[in-house]
Amino acid sequence: MVKETTYYDILGVKPNANNDDLKKAYRKLALKYHPDKNPNEGERFKQISQAYEVLSNPDKRRIYDQGGEQALKEGGGGGSGFSSPMDIFDMFFGGGFSGGRRRGRERKGKDVIHQLSVTLDELYKGAVRKLALQKNVICDKCEGRGGKKGAVQTCPTCRGSGMAVQIQQLAPGMIQQIQSVCPTCRGQREIIDAKDRCKVCQGRKTVRDRKILEVHVDKGMTDGQKIVFSGEGDQEPELDPGDLIIVLDEKEHETFKRSGNDLIVRMNIELVEALCGFQKSLRTLDDRDIVVTVMPGEVTKHGDVKCVMNEGMPMYKNPFEKGLLILQFLVNFPSQIPPEAVPALENCLPPRPRVEIPELAEECTLMELDPEQESRRRRAANGPAYEEDEDHPGMNRVQCATG
Ligand SMILES: [Zn+2]
Ligand SMILES: [Zn+2]
Repeated sequence: MVKETTYYDILGVKPNANNDDLKKAYRKLALKYHPDKNPNEGERFKQISQAYEVLSNPDKRRIYDQGGEQALKEGGGGGSGFSSPMDIFDMFFGGGFSGGRRRGRERKGKDVIHQLSVTLDELYKGAVRKLALQKNVICDKCEGRGGKKGAVQTCPTCRGSGMAVQIQQLAPGMIQQIQSVCPTCRGQREIIDAKDRCKVCQGRKTVRDRKILEVHVDKGMTDGQKIVFSGEGDQEPELDPGDLIIVLDEKEHETFKRSGNDLIVRMNIELVEALCGFQKSLRTLDDRDIVVTVMPGEVTKHGDVKCVMNEGMPMYKNPFEKGLLILQFLVNFPSQIPPEAVPALENCLPPRPRVEIPELAEECTLMELDPEQESRRRRAANGPAYEEDEDHPGMNRVQCATG
């Protein structure tokens, strides 16, 4: 049981979420609340990053689960404080790009990251998706100058540094320098007189442009996979354009659950099928019908797992190879059978074990029990005591670690 669920709630996952759940939740929210898309949600973006930073680290997560945010603050995390939300974002989405992005900050425009929701069918069959995107492009009218030729002047306030320095006297002989972004040019290092400003981009040098892109989703691609369009990101004057990065988001399928290259299907069968054999057909993700047969005489038990070779997901870049189709059988037991049928049925089944009842055994009655209701009842009866027992050893352990 975890002490508090705030970080889990921020990511919208349950406290028993595994690493994949966390990654998926973070990815979705980080892209949604990224300051580029949602400039007013900076605080939210920060919280999402913090929650992910803690929960994705097994040590920090254990401390958080045991002692909550307070335990982390007390230094149980092995180093306090959080990384910057942007660093977490770069780390998560960066992979190969992160280094280039960082080094290239001065010479490359911003990468545009976009999440594309795809169905399992599309990942199985491959698909071409059209995507409408907004990005910054160099203004055609002024060719990225922002105004008429020669209209751009070095900012007289900051003399082109983009920063303004204020000197404050705190006490005689004690002065403090405060650096801030130059208010005249807003850090742009140059200004354009209002009358010379480009009418199309209002002196911003770039304009928003809508672009339709064709994204080729290849067979066997996976959730979270990135498709990079080099140079299709934001354009900025005097810089190389950034990249456009499409991140695939695999939607859940109602029949198939994907596990790597394998597909898992839970199949309900009746008791008669479990005992006497059966045939079942299944529609594949590329709309073929396949049939599986269990011969009479072969028994399928509840929870049995079997597989079909080469009917799983196609392998990326090698789509003729496919993973396994894994079938898990769940047997529906009848709730009753007619008593007069019992002797005939019993005849067909392996014999019962011999049971010896001691002479003085007491007769008891079996009642129905709802396990969920029972565990609720138990929690209500001794909940607080149980919580105390759980929490205190954890807290002590954290204190030992710090002290
Ligand atoms: Zn312009
Ligand atoms: Zn300035």
